[in-house]
Amino acid sequence: MRKIPVAQPTLGKSEWQNLKSCLESSWISSQGKFIERFEQQFANYCGVKYAISTSSGTAALHLALLALGIGKGDEVILPALTFVSCANAIVYTGAKPVFADVEGDTWTIDPKDVEKKITNKTKAIMAVHLYGYPADMKSLKSLARKYGIFLIEDASEAHGAKFAGKRVGSMGKINCFSFYGNKIITTGEGGMITTNNKSYANKITLLKNHGADPKRRYWHPVIGYNYRMTNLQAAIGLAQLEKLDYFLAKRKKIAKLYRKFLKSIPGVVLPPEDTNNRQAVCWQFSILITKKFPLNRDHLIRLLAKKGIETRPFFVILTDLPMYKQKEPLPVAEKISQQGISLPTSVNLTEKEIKYICEQIKKAS
Ligand SMILES: *Cc1c(COP(=O)(O)O)cnc(C)c1O
Repeated sequence: MRKIPVAQPTLGKSEWQNLKSCLESSWISSQGKFIERFEQQFANYCGVKYAISTSSGTAALHLALLALGIGKGDEVILPALTFVSCANAIVYTGAKPVFADVEGDTWTIDPKDVEKKITNKTKAIMAVHLYGYPADMKSLKSLARKYGIFLIEDASEAHGAKFAGKRVGSMGKINCFSFYGNKIITTGEGGMITTNNKSYANKITLLKNHGADPKRRYWHPVIGYNYRMTNLQAAIGLAQLEKLDYFLAKRKKIAKLYRKFLKSIPGVVLPPEDTNNRQAVCWQFSILITKKFPLNRDHLIRLLAKKGIETRPFFVILTDLPMYKQKEPLPVAEKISQQGISLPTSVNLTEKEIKYICEQIKKAS
């Protein structure tokens, strides 16, 4: 059996054809028809008015915060259990990241803890749909309304997930996606910002493009960035987007098989199930290894690696990293971070491979 990677993109004929047409047109930089089409179709998919492509998900987060006017002296609340660039993007603006705990049953940001951390400096809440599971947007939205602060979605791990029938990426003031190689759809590196607000969309477009005034050549009214996506990336992205629903259906089947084969193993906690409001997508099928399991999480990771199965531990909570260290504990995030393991999840994973992976876990139990 092949070595099973934790994630692998699915690239096919249509990506190849789009790329070929892109090269033949010689529009390989950040202008060209694929950029516009990718942005337009992505906006349609999310059900928003504007989608603006970026060079990465991190660039998208940075621009979203800048567009909201967030900077020095401001605070932004985010979950402690997420990818590091969520906090970094806040620091890039000069603002301070304030870490909230997560919900024990969904692993996403806990609105009750968020409310405790709101101060008169709080400008925004960054909701992260972790491993494909939507954060509690209803409670977060009502907090944002109650305190007059912005809500931003980081949907980098949840393309296509829904909350109360709405797609992620359509509920915050400004929302962000990543198309890194291990995400549900990929452009290699890349990102997208979605919003319904025209003035935010314009500001983001200005900032991502060197702050260049679209109407006056070499007129730069603000300090901007080069955060543009290339037409080559968008060519791949468009082909990927056209297959997104197919990818999601495949991933759903994978999750179902994992659930079936891992059911009722003592010490193995399966990922949160869908509820009426929260319709997850399966980015990385992730489980917790609790004390009832004979091996600890890291031990299991090593054992699976020996069997040719690549897995990944959950994110280290950000408050354990040197630059974000704090004394105040975030007990739920801490525990989940130490117990969580993501299992191989790619569209081309076979039932036989899933069975094999689950058998190895069962054997260890
Ligand atoms: C991947 C990821 C990002 C960063 O995206 P890049 O495209 O790698 O910059 C941000 N937030 C979350 C939650 C992610 O998973």
